[in-house]
Amino acid sequence: RPWNFSAGPAALAPEVLAQAQRELLDWRGTGVSVMEVSHRGRDFMAMAEETEQDLRALMGIPDSYTVLFLQGGATQHFAQLAMNLAGPEDRADYVVTGHWSQKAVQEAMPYVNARVAASTEADGFRSVPTQFEVDPQAAYLHFTPNETIHGTEFHHLPESGDVPLVADMSSDILSRPLDVSKFGMIYAGAQKNIGPSGLVLLIVRDDLLRRPGRPMADIFRYARHAERDSMLNTPNTWGWYLAGLTFQWIAAQGGLEAIGARNQAKADALYAAIDGSGGFYTNTIDPTARSRMNVPFRLHDEALDATFLQASAEAGLMALKGHRALGGMRASIYNAMPMQGVQALIDFMGDFARRHG
Ligand code: PLP
Repeated sequence: RPWNFSAGPAALAPEVLAQAQRELLDWRGTGVSVMEVSHRGRDFMAMAEETEQDLRALMGIPDSYTVLFLQGGATQHFAQLAMNLAGPEDRADYVVTGHWSQKAVQEAMPYVNARVAASTEADGFRSVPTQFEVDPQAAYLHFTPNETIHGTEFHHLPESGDVPLVADMSSDILSRPLDVSKFGMIYAGAQKNIGPSGLVLLIVRDDLLRRPGRPMADIFRYARHAERDSMLNTPNTWGWYLAGLTFQWIAAQGGLEAIGARNQAKADALYAAIDGSGGFYTNTIDPTARSRMNVPFRLHDEALDATFLQASAEAGLMALKGHRALGGMRASIYNAMPMQGVQALIDFMGDFARRHG
């Protein structure tokens, strides 16, 4: 199999895929696949409960938080979280550090009086802010800890006082240890560090879950989903199952401490190769805000881009093309990418620079 640097849907751990393959036709002795059993049946309910407990153990999620396995992608929750966490007259603050946080504020605007409390647009989204003027009356402060396209990451938490922090962790969840108690709500589309797309994980502090929000249909209300253990309607059973396998895999790797150390080592090695290439490759993100998950880089001459992409694909390095908004290259190195894959990329880049420098 190639080394898959896709930003998402992204590579899953081979052990997870192999287990899913082994169980595909006969899951837990049912004689059918997990996709073919009732979500309200004993087997699925038991698996769902184990999966939540495994996640709680991995992340150290306090009892005062509810875990939900929903649908709609992170994008739907840009709007839905505003409907749930803010009343019709409420204000909310947003930190804008790139494409996804910009989308989050736009999608919330029909439902909350959203204000940009800090932005790094002026420097082309090459850094993350360190100063915040948070409205103490804001219903929440939203930020995107890792900007998947721009390749920036917060390595500190925004200071929000008593205003609850809401984080879109789609591209950095489970990538290192995290103090969940510092957040009001965490949410993440599954398709990078959790499992297949179509599943969204939410971790919500119970006092926020009880907020009245605005009038809305039950299907949008987080509290209704919580009352029904994320089974208000038919959940994404396949995604839920694969998330469970991934949580077990992370635990088997040594948990978030071990995963975090490995992710840091991978990112350090790749940035060192870029910075040490004598200008053949560049990454212009503020070094204190570089992402450990998504590493965008450019070649010194963009006329070489197509050759680089073709040669890298032939060398078994898949999906290195940068996002269409930014061009260049991007290597996404989520949890499932081992150091061996990153080293294969580094070796290829060195060799390519020698041949074309
Ligand atoms: N937020 C971030 C940080 C992302 O990287 C993405 C990309 O998948 C999204 C939100 C959008 O997620 P979805 O496609 O699940 O709506």
